[in-house]
Amino acid sequence: MSSSLGPLQDGGRVVIIGGGPGGVACALALQRQARQLGRRITVTILEGKQFSSEQHYNQCAGVLSPPLPALLKHELGLPFPYHLSRGEIKGYVLHTDGEVLLLPERGEPSIAVRRIQFDAFMLEAATQAHIGIIPARAVDVEFHADGVMVYTENVPLECDVVVGAFGLDEGSAAFFARSTGYHPPRFLDSVVTKYHPGVEAMEAFGPYIHAFLPADPAIEFGAITPKGNHLTINIAGRRVDAPTMRAFLANPLVQATLPNLDRAGLYDVNDLHIFKGRFPRSLASHFYGDRYVMIGDAAGLVRAFKGKGVTSAVLTGIRAARTILEEGISASAFADHYRRANRDIIEDLPYGQLMRHLTINLARLRLLDPVLRAARADGVLQDALFDAVSAHGPYKAVLGRSLRPHVVAHVVREMLSM
Ligand SMILES: Cc1cc2nc3c(=O)[nH]c(=O)nc-3n(C[C@H](O)[C@H](O)[C@H](O)COP(=O)(O)OP(=O)(O)OC[C@H]3O[C@@H](n4cnc5c(N)ncnc54)[C@H](O)[C@@H]3O)c2cc1C
Repeated sequence: MSSSLGPLQDGGRVVIIGGGPGGVACALALQRQARQLGRRITVTILEGKQFSSEQHYNQCAGVLSPPLPALLKHELGLPFPYHLSRGEIKGYVLHTDGEVLLLPERGEPSIAVRRIQFDAFMLEAATQAHIGIIPARAVDVEFHADGVMVYTENVPLECDVVVGAFGLDEGSAAFFARSTGYHPPRFLDSVVTKYHPGVEAMEAFGPYIHAFLPADPAIEFGAITPKGNHLTINIAGRRVDAPTMRAFLANPLVQATLPNLDRAGLYDVNDLHIFKGRFPRSLASHFYGDRYVMIGDAAGLVRAFKGKGVTSAVLTGIRAARTILEEGISASAFADHYRRANRDIIEDLPYGQLMRHLTINLARLRLLDPVLRAARADGVLQDALFDAVSAHGPYKAVLGRSLRPHVVAHVVREMLSM
């Protein structure tokens, strides 16, 4: 180990806590870029879950969005695992309490996969790239002048820099908070379930994600995603739980979208089991410092309201690797380069927050129905809604387009005719 906080040199060591998409992308990018720079470094990933034997569930709906295939191919030299596809997503059906609007895909479609299989694929790519993977949890970190000590449930590890890729894991956030100024992002609760409605019903359901923006103040949004042989259903809000999910499933508008719900369990005994997850909804504080940097969900470097968490985790993992190898491992190197590289995400966060509050309040006041009616005849508003729901465009552009005078006039006319 070295007391230098400059770019990681020959013989440098990195420990990555978390083997999700962010952690593995960071590891692969470090290994690849170090080779290009002619440096030999050691990268170790700590991952507490077992993905390959499918012992652990991942609550993520597994909709992988562009530019993920391009990032994997061009930045990590990894072909996108199309063989894991459970279907292309061809668009979105947006539901408010009184209206339905189809928003067909306009560009490269997203691909639905089982997240646990995608994580296993990524970890296998890391193994193939001779990256050490230790199947254990990190339990503490200590920062010293010449390096970092990472304590694990297995062996202790010493390194020059540690990457926090642990998502919204509370235990990991707590031990980082003890030794750094790190504070995890605020988050939205999410509960997820799935069921198998049968082959014919899946075909009839089609390749569309149904997104719900109900007036019910407990639920910020709900989504039903086709995943090959089953439907994944998730809802999100400040405090959603199993009863909130049962109420969502009992909603007549939701029931009308769910085929053969009464036959859940017929094809799979695990149907309608409920799992809990979280979405970050703010930037973490002190998400970098001397000898550490957070990526993906742990940093809160995702869109504020909805979507593309896997793509953001991979992107921020690649950006962290570049800073570590080219600029340094000090707080100022991460501030000047890593933070700046993520300006696209960080500067869009306030617009995402604004969009989120606008959507929640319009939904509660039952004013989203006229917005959807206006969008049916207004291409600009329709494009803006598509970008918001699909997460394909920044919220700044979504708001800019939605607030154009002719769009506002259109929505106001629809409101007045209610
Ligand atoms: C209900 C739900 C649905 C979602 N659907 C989508 C979707 O369809 N598409 C999409 O792009 N995103 C989706 N997301 C978001 C997406 O799951 C996350 O943004 C993404 O997984 C973040 O990746 P990450 O690598 O930062 O963290 P994670 O994927 O959370 O990975 C963190 C890893 O770190 C490990 N870990 C944690 N602490 C430790 C420790 N101390 N030691 C060792 N290992 C540790 C964990 O086991 C985990 O594997 C969804 C999220 C939720 C909650």
